[in-house]
Amino acid sequence: MRVFVASMKHESHSFCRSRTDIDAFRRRDYVLGPAIPKRFRGTRTEWGAAFDAADEYGWELIHPLAAGAVPAGLVTSAAFDHLSEVILAGLKDATPIDGILLILHGAMIAEGYDDAEGELLIRVRKLVGWDIPIAITLDMHANVTDEMARHCSILSTYRTTPHVDLYETGMRSARLLQRAMTGEVHPRVVVARRAMIDLDEGRTIGLDAPMPEILRIANQAENTIAGVLTVSVQAGYPWADIAQAGTSVAVTGDGYQARYIELAEQLMDECWKRRHISTIDLMPLDSAIAAIKAHQLKGGGAKIGEHGPLLVGDFTDCPAGGAGGDGTNLLKAMLDGGINDAVLGFVNDSAAVQAGKAAGVGAAISVKLGGKCDPDFGGGPLEVTGRVVHLSDGNYVRKGPMATGTSGSLGPTMTIAINGIRVVVCSHSYAVDDREQFRAAGIDPDHEHVLACKAMNHFRADFEPVSSGLIYVDSGGVCSTNYLRFPYTKLRRPMSPIDFS
Ligand SMILES: [Zn+2]
Repeated sequence: MRVFVASMKHESHSFCRSRTDIDAFRRRDYVLGPAIPKRFRGTRTEWGAAFDAADEYGWELIHPLAAGAVPAGLVTSAAFDHLSEVILAGLKDATPIDGILLILHGAMIAEGYDDAEGELLIRVRKLVGWDIPIAITLDMHANVTDEMARHCSILSTYRTTPHVDLYETGMRSARLLQRAMTGEVHPRVVVARRAMIDLDEGRTIGLDAPMPEILRIANQAENTIAGVLTVSVQAGYPWADIAQAGTSVAVTGDGYQARYIELAEQLMDECWKRRHISTIDLMPLDSAIAAIKAHQLKGGGAKIGEHGPLLVGDFTDCPAGGAGGDGTNLLKAMLDGGINDAVLGFVNDSAAVQAGKAAGVGAAISVKLGGKCDPDFGGGPLEVTGRVVHLSDGNYVRKGPMATGTSGSLGPTMTIAINGIRVVVCSHSYAVDDREQFRAAGIDPDHEHVLACKAMNHFRADFEPVSSGLIYVDSGGVCSTNYLRFPYTKLRRPMSPIDFS
């Protein structure tokens, strides 16, 4: 079998001022053809699964492009057209093929294309027709549109947040694709939605959270209802101002059967019943500062690291959710509150890093730090004076449970000590998701008292096992869960919890 594989991943925040251009993809992932195996073979990712499936089934893989950028504002139309042209040109060259695997996110918006993945799938279908099975993989924060469901044959989504099952999701899609290519099954995808924008961020930590409960029911249905091939539950990505955003259930079944849409609707009923439940407790800044102080008092005299760091998640300024990662409200509150012996990462400000590089390690510098992406969210530029304590290229290889084995880069990175708070300043907006990122900045995260992280969920996988606690703070960033702050114009209405509870 000849199988075509490509990835195009982005989570696009409608209310972020930034735009995601092709350079933003180049900074994260823009890997062409022959370079792809070197980057992804053996990693715990969808690509890693595609290579393993190819070995197992004897597929010949054709893979022109692996592209992905850090979540941020909308993808430019030029970047989207370029990426889809590289994929489509690769596909044209690859024919004849037996099947297609597309590794997507599911919440990508490009300028002019509210449903970028749907648009890509339409273009792919136009080229290959309806006989070739197309399997897609999605993030749990996907907004699955009717067009996406209609134009693919197999849809499978992560079942964990933090996302530690990229590989398993890729493998699930690949196995179904193999069955479809041999003609054993003829998969089709149906999708159901309700007027709800989110389901507890899809968090799967804690078995009594809504998502694990729904996934248990989905799993049972998958194993007992005839013809059901896989069930995918998407929490949704709430900061997407498109008509079909929100929580959804997609059922991939063999052929067209009414019971598939019935199952999707039933599972959406279960989601709907749980729409009020949130396991996220965001503290206001003053409470978070008090909690940090209490932690430090409790640990007074204890050896640093004996109990692991207190994790402080700067939830609303998390680049993995689309925020710029340069908000300063938390840092300001920590400085004003007299917090010392703490680490904060990663503040995105390449100009500050350049100033630190010019001065060198050991030098004192004064900079206007952060706050440039959108001063209306998370705090504007903050005047600080500190000592440069570490400079690096910001490159690392992930050792934690998420996307294990993949390399990443924060870009040129500076660690600056400001009144006892060491702030890791990076040049590429990036969420905290692996302890190796801090090690690359000269910090041993296991032996710190307080680790404040611009992070929502993913960092928990690698950091929580070595921590002594976790609190979340609302610093006023653009990933606010107070959706009333955002001027939605395209989202279908009414919508819970914006218009009713
Ligand atoms: Zn996600």
